[in-house]
Amino acid sequence: AGRFHGREVLVAGAGVSGRSAAGALLDAGASVTVTDASDERLAALASLRAAGAELVAGLTEPPAGTDLVVTSPGWRPESPLLSASAAAGVEVIGEVELAWRLDADKPEPATWLAVTGTNGKTTTVSMLEAVLRAAGTDVVACGNVGLPVVDAVRAGHRVLAVELSSFQLHWSESVRPLAGAVLNLAEDHLDWHGSLESYGRAKERIYFGNEVAVGNADDAWSTRLVDGHGRRRVWITLGEPEPGQLGVSGGRLVDRAFGDRRDLAALGEVHPSGPHNQANALAAAALALAFGVEPADVAAGLRSFQPGAHRSVVVGEAAGVSYVDDSKATNPHAADAALRAHPRVVWIAGGLLKGADVEQLVADNADRLDAAVLIGQDRERFAAALARHAPDVPVREVAARDHTGMQEAVRLAGGFARPGSVVLLAPAAASMDMFTDYAERGRCFAEAAGGVLAESSTAT
Ligand code: ADP
Repeated sequence: AGRFHGREVLVAGAGVSGRSAAGALLDAGASVTVTDASDERLAALASLRAAGAELVAGLTEPPAGTDLVVTSPGWRPESPLLSASAAAGVEVIGEVELAWRLDADKPEPATWLAVTGTNGKTTTVSMLEAVLRAAGTDVVACGNVGLPVVDAVRAGHRVLAVELSSFQLHWSESVRPLAGAVLNLAEDHLDWHGSLESYGRAKERIYFGNEVAVGNADDAWSTRLVDGHGRRRVWITLGEPEPGQLGVSGGRLVDRAFGDRRDLAALGEVHPSGPHNQANALAAAALALAFGVEPADVAAGLRSFQPGAHRSVVVGEAAGVSYVDDSKATNPHAADAALRAHPRVVWIAGGLLKGADVEQLVADNADRLDAAVLIGQDRERFAAALARHAPDVPVREVAARDHTGMQEAVRLAGGFARPGSVVLLAPAAASMDMFTDYAERGRCFAEAAGGVLAESSTAT
């Protein structure tokens, strides 16, 4: 019997990862209670109940006898249930930590390669997965990208390309990846972590126990966090690489960390294009090389990589104007990367800023804007910044907070576009004031772009 046999475990949160955790714990012989604020989410766990789990709505303290709590990553440490658990001396871990412990108890644990950062995580682990597959490795991307790590461990894959959010890292005490990377760090989720300092501290955990710790030399926070970690440290940079770094030289990705000077891939093989995806590709390459793949596998993997939806996807093109959906740019740091990938932009932005600041974003990108069309709740904040830093750029605001608002925005944006410009949805803000999520926002943009393009083709 394993270490969870006979233990009394409370699973807090009946979402995707909680469900996987509860299933794994039942199979490991634990007695399991699942709680959630929502009766509906609990009701969806009928099969777990049938397998012996107790489902209890709205617990604010752990049932007597509980000796472990597995929490959903979104729950705050100060929430009543988790603070009551801590006060009662009950250990609280996350689903990723549970996955690590289950994996460590196997005769042949998987190799973990882990990625965190404010932006680029999903793209990087997906590129890493593609590169390792090109090398013939049995790998799966898991964690924050969608597949719970517990499920990936139970499926028995040889290598896990693990995306970890700061929330997940907060609850992952003993996770020790072979190699880890902090891509970048910018203001986001400070409502949860309290400060940039404690957000950074959570992210730093990705480096614990690393054989190879991968830092981003172009990002001040990554540079600071990687310091002192890893049996060896390697760096990525978009500049000319020095020894110990992977970088860009003569239009190619080059490795000067694991070899003397090895060619990895042409910039043209990295897609979607744009400097931020080159950085993601370099981080994926560094992790894959740390595992031991050959340089040729990096190029092959990057060529086969399928970009994720709503991340710099061209959804339409006509008369030299392309329409690009980067709805996943939900904070200013991401929108900055999305904007930098294009020389001329008609920018569709706005939504819920979650307290973030857009002054720098607007000031840094004023030169590339042909026009800006603003949507959503916090559009005034964008309008004010544009008035200050880009007074000559035409700005339109759209008040409607529904699908017609997006349609109007795309129509206005299309009117400003000239051959060579990109109509770019990179909102720099969350979507929930107008849409269910960023995916719906992106779909709505693509539909509206389709409409505008169809109209213009019948008009000519
Ligand atoms: P995450 O999983 O961290 O949210 P994604 O890979 O899904 O990141 O990318 C989200 C968005 O962030 C992209 O659509 C793009 O706008 C931006 N982005 C991607 N990579 C980077 C990067 N390395 N630096 C800054 N912004 C990035």
